[in-house]
Amino acid sequence: MKIFEEIESEVQSYARSFPRVFNRALGEHIYDEDGNEYLDFLAGAGTLNYGHNNPLFKEKLLEYIASDGVTHSLDLHTKAKEGFLEAFNEKILKPRSMEYVMQFTGPTGANAVEAALKLARNITGRQHVISFTNGFHGVSLGALAATGNEHHRGAAGVMLNGTTIMPYDGYMGDQVDTTAYIDKLLSDSSSGVDHPAAVIVETVQGEGGINAASFEWLRNLEAVCRKHDMLLIVDDIQAGCGRTGSYFSFEQAGIKPDIITMSKSLGGYGLPFAVVLIKPELDHWKPGEHNGTFRGNNFAFVTAKAAIDHYWSDERFAADVQRKGQYVSTRLQAIVDTYGEGNFTTRGRGMFQGINCISGELAGEITRRCFKNGLIIETSGADDHVVKLLCPLTISDENLALGIDILEQAIKETCAGDTDIPEDDDYFEDVRKIA
Ligand SMILES: *Cc1c(COP(=O)(O)O)cnc(C)c1O
Repeated sequence: MKIFEEIESEVQSYARSFPRVFNRALGEHIYDEDGNEYLDFLAGAGTLNYGHNNPLFKEKLLEYIASDGVTHSLDLHTKAKEGFLEAFNEKILKPRSMEYVMQFTGPTGANAVEAALKLARNITGRQHVISFTNGFHGVSLGALAATGNEHHRGAAGVMLNGTTIMPYDGYMGDQVDTTAYIDKLLSDSSSGVDHPAAVIVETVQGEGGINAASFEWLRNLEAVCRKHDMLLIVDDIQAGCGRTGSYFSFEQAGIKPDIITMSKSLGGYGLPFAVVLIKPELDHWKPGEHNGTFRGNNFAFVTAKAAIDHYWSDERFAADVQRKGQYVSTRLQAIVDTYGEGNFTTRGRGMFQGINCISGELAGEITRRCFKNGLIIETSGADDHVVKLLCPLTISDENLALGIDILEQAIKETCAGDTDIPEDDDYFEDVRKIA
């Protein structure tokens, strides 16, 4: 571990929660150098929906590398890109009657968000974009301006401009439809809110604490966008690629975003990859206006195509995710009913769920206990108060049950005030000894 302390920056984050050296991973498992096995309910924060080193994708990737397939090509046309575009068009877009063009940005979610915001501003000639409380869209300046989190915003060092943050669904309590509030502000020429170019929204807020917007709220938001001539951008970077039980997270809501950002699990194999989907009539880009050295990633084209071919050629995978999601709902509800003393609540939908533990301290203690018992699971939300289940969608029923068993045990012990859990350094010494 020493080299990490010696020369890796203090900016490390997840590594602090799980201070081991990992050297192997397969499916829903990850292993450390001492041979300890962990169930991975963090899964690259939603990047490993199809598990670690999915053997189906690995085979295609190895073939591609062995045949000297093009690795880097800027935005040149390659066979790998052609294969991905065809698969995405035939198996994702067409069956859903969705007509979009695809922009390959730099390979991070933040870069796709930057491109989406830039495009929306250029199309409309307006500067302001509405984003939401607890939203997370990345940490480059434009995306950060649309992000709620104080800790991340505080690191910017300059003013974060061009956004107006509005209350997300549920922010003002269950009784208030916050889209009515937005509509009112935009209908009033003296509200002081400039006419926005666009709204950017997550259907389920991943980093913000697994807040799920209702389908009705999403439809109302779309109606407000149409009424006030604003573009609707859905940031599906974390909620997309099947996480909520359908390929796009907004499908059940029946809305038609103007622009969609995708990344995280899109590449399928944990490879960096991001796209912006744009309604064809909104593709106002001029050649090279938004460029980058790594636009598209040929390895990711190969694995992303493999993911689409294998998991999205029919309805079976989505149905399986929905079935597992229902199991998670039932288990989590039982856990909060039994141990939460009326305080804990469940959050989210599909395989994108969590438990609101009210306090970050409690949630942290729960996840530390989980780690001790071989489960990697993280918290999210303003106070890190939500324990977030984000396991691979391909997880076996047995391991899904086992992971939730470990979580349940940790919650039971934490709520019983079991205090045999040493803090921080001591604690991890202890973990090492056990291992
Ligand atoms: C992770 C995430 C981003 C940022 O993606 P990066 O690859 O970390 O830049 C943007 N939006 C959402 C919803 C995300 O979950």
